[in-house]
Amino acid sequence: MVNYNNSRILLQPNEIPKEWVNILPDLPSPMTPLVNPMDGKPAPPELALAIFPKECVMQEVSQEPIIPIPKDLREIFARTYRPSPLHRALGLEKELGIKGDDIKIFYKNESGSPTGSHKPNTAITQAYYAKKDGIEELVTETGAGQWGSGLSYGCNLFGIKCTVYMVRVSFLQKPGRKILMKSFNAEVHASPSRHTESGKNFLEKDPEHPGSLGIAISEALEHSLRSNTIRYSLGSVVNFVLLHQTIVGQETKIQLAKVGINKPDIIIGCMGGGSNFAGLMIPFARDKLHGVLPDVEIIGVEPRACPSVCKGEYRWDFGDTSMKGPIVKMHTLGHSFVPSPIHAGGLRYHGMAPIISILYNNKVISASMHHQSEVIKSGLLFSNTEGILPAPETAHAVKEAIDQALKAKENNEKKTIVFNFSGHGFFDLLAYKLYMTGDLEDYELPTEEIQKALSSGEMPKIDESQF
Ligand SMILES: *Cc1c(COP(=O)(O)O)cnc(C)c1O
Repeated sequence: MVNYNNSRILLQPNEIPKEWVNILPDLPSPMTPLVNPMDGKPAPPELALAIFPKECVMQEVSQEPIIPIPKDLREIFARTYRPSPLHRALGLEKELGIKGDDIKIFYKNESGSPTGSHKPNTAITQAYYAKKDGIEELVTETGAGQWGSGLSYGCNLFGIKCTVYMVRVSFLQKPGRKILMKSFNAEVHASPSRHTESGKNFLEKDPEHPGSLGIAISEALEHSLRSNTIRYSLGSVVNFVLLHQTIVGQETKIQLAKVGINKPDIIIGCMGGGSNFAGLMIPFARDKLHGVLPDVEIIGVEPRACPSVCKGEYRWDFGDTSMKGPIVKMHTLGHSFVPSPIHAGGLRYHGMAPIISILYNNKVISASMHHQSEVIKSGLLFSNTEGILPAPETAHAVKEAIDQALKAKENNEKKTIVFNFSGHGFFDLLAYKLYMTGDLEDYELPTEEIQKALSSGEMPKIDESQF
């Protein structure tokens, strides 16, 4: 049963944070550069500038701990969907048999944005900077379609053309997302497509190729280099995207303070490329690094079918399958890894954000993983008790929050748990249907298969003496 008693903590539009939090200067080990695949040396600014809007390139390497959010942009957020609510999950707590205030579960609800996820936080920001630079078209890839719809929406706000390469398996599983993107005037292609050379290569090998985010990135990058008025846009992984998402954690801090909580115990988010998790946790991770929140536990959650952090290696790898884009030092399952077609399409990426990888290596954050059937089961429990059906991606965070709450209950501990409700699942109903009829498959990734993925494909050649 849903329990709505005093469960929503709201902010006024004038309380939208004025700053993003840049974690780079506080990282316990230095940030690694993006490397040019042509020569194995750090990508020169000219190369980055040919790919991304200028302000984003500056933010990617900025060492300023705080970066102001432009006033115009804050106004656009205020007129569209921010600040987002923070909810106390009273209905879920009750269902779990939790009484009183010793254990509290909060979720930051990013599902109320126009496209139903956290993605517009960076999509609007990137389109805003692109418009300022006189860019006419942004091109991108999308998995489940959340990022594609976010960017389509952002571009449409500023009258910029948007082209989206959508991973074929999701294109087929989630036709609704394509229609949503088209409603915002975007052009959408199933990837691999016949619109690029890299797409054609994959289709030649397998006309029914399911696609992967890595392949779609290759297609979008190739497309973006066709003209100087086109730029590429990324929805996750890189530093500036994680930066834009910190508006989420900044708001959450203010909201928790309003109900007297200055020291949450556990922060949770699901991890695809790492952006929604980072957006919530970076302001708290910085406090942890500064000794303000020494004990806060920060947990990123992965699918067992694509556990880049939990089971992958930390090494230099290509960001995309065709090895055209930048080489990144990160946790990876190898750029040639094609994950099983789980419904959490947004979590099917072979790598992980370098920021997340570094924080994990230094034990500032930890990671866990779950099977999709237990994840979807938790999603249904959440829908039943809180009234919002989570995206399959988000349901990974729900599952972890439930596990943590039950653990605290069993040990008679006091815990405040906060997780990022990254998006709703209204376009992902097939996953829930399959669960209800007992037809949802789990995919475990055997160690041999991980080893095979890690050792197949070309290794990037890096010249670290040039760093
Ligand atoms: C895209 C997406 C994710 C995964 O991407 P991150 O960059 O890791 O956040 C998670 N949840 C939802 C709802 C998404 O749309």
